Amino acid sequence: MSQIDYQHVLDEITKEVQPLLSQGKVADYIPALAEVEPNQFAIAIHTVDGQTYCAGDCSARFTIQSVSKVMTLTLALQRYGDELWQRVGKEPSGTAFNSLTQLEFEQGIPRNPFINAGAIVTCDALYSRLSAPMHSMLESFRQLSGNAQVVIDKKVANSEYEFRHRNAAMGHLMKSFGNFNNEVDDVLWAYFNFCAIELNCVELAKAYNYLANQGKDANGQEVLSARQNKQLNSLLFTSGLYDAAGDFGYRVGMPGKSGVSGTILAVLPNQFTVAVWAPRLNSYGNSVAGIAALERLSQKLDISIF
Ligand code: GLN
Repeated sequence: MSQIDYQHVLDEITKEVQPLLSQGKVADYIPALAEVEPNQFAIAIHTVDGQTYCAGDCSARFTIQSVSKVMTLTLALQRYGDELWQRVGKEPSGTAFNSLTQLEFEQGIPRNPFINAGAIVTCDALYSRLSAPMHSMLESFRQLSGNAQVVIDKKVANSEYEFRHRNAAMGHLMKSFGNFNNEVDDVLWAYFNFCAIELNCVELAKAYNYLANQGKDANGQEVLSARQNKQLNSLLFTSGLYDAAGDFGYRVGMPGKSGVSGTILAVLPNQFTVAVWAPRLNSYGNSVAGIAALERLSQKLDISIF
């Protein structure tokens, strides 16, 4: 791409989405998440050649929620490779992120690693291979984001654990089908702590930049092989936004992953990662202003993977 004024584009988008910041509802099924000031917004781009651009509340930190599922999958693929796919599928679910019904029909094998059941079983796999899963996850984010101080918001993690019943039901259902090896509550505690990792948009875009960089981090070290990275991006495109993945793909044209804190990470292969945050969600659990911002970014830069 020739010289693009990313900063100008992000500033424009930040102005344009202001009217949308009061639309939608913050997630309140996790009580600690409902305490966030709802009308905030930030967007950051991190390019594969190491440039960062940000507009809005750039230093505001939020829990990354389901965007952590991408790192969970990354760490599990590093350890299991294709063997992981015996325990979790690769198909879009067409159901909500926290749906239980499909899991019963499909004998305890979740459709994909980005719905809750799929991420929880991936955590179970990781739990079996890591002596200190929370430490490993934090270290990955610390190294990749360049902020050695990344922490877990324990209030959010505790709140998720206290209200874990639906996620626990998924874990127990998978265990009844023989697709779960550790104690459900232990794995859930790790899963909730992963979800409660706190980053700002700049750190989030930077941490996941390997997704745009053929699987390599800023130092050229392989996080995933180029093949695995391509596969992961493909799965993000088909399933990263749950039962709204089709609409997101249509509007934005990039692989992406959303979380109920109102954050979305999207990838433009070989160019950049972009992280956006606006806490109010639509009925699919995805950020209203976040999707609109990414749609505008894709239009303004005339970008798409296609
Ligand atoms: N921690 C959340 C949960 O388990 C993650 C869901 C999400 O971000 N979609 O419900």
